[in-house]
Amino acid sequence: MRTERDGRRTVELWDVQTATERAKVHIDEAAHRAERLLSDPDTKARREAVECRWCFYGRNGMSGQAFTEWTCGACGEKASHPNTRVPRLCAACAKELHLCRQCCADVELRRRRTL
Ligand SMILES: [Zn+2]
Ligand SMILES: [Zn+2]
Repeated sequence: MRTERDGRRTVELWDVQTATERAKVHIDEAAHRAERLLSDPDTKARREAVECRWCFYGRNGMSGQAFTEWTCGACGEKASHPNTRVPRLCAACAKELHLCRQCCADVELRRRRTL
């Protein structure tokens, strides 16, 4: 780490190089994700999971590892979930209502007039 006259420099060439590479990786990942969001390549798996495109392809898998209690927003059944990304609906209700388990959007993102 080099020191300058008016204080310590915190950005070095190494930081710039690392950040540059990291930004490129993030762009590739985002582009790949966007591609999947739009083309819905795993329709079957997504429908089996009962999730909308955004929840299935769009979200990062960021969730805490802790069993979390949650209640289905339709039938009121209580359940526990292995991480903190708790669903809004149980699988049965999501299937029956054609809603995303995670966020309760229409599973094909159609505009709904009824539940
Ligand atoms: Zn339910
Ligand atoms: Zn969703």
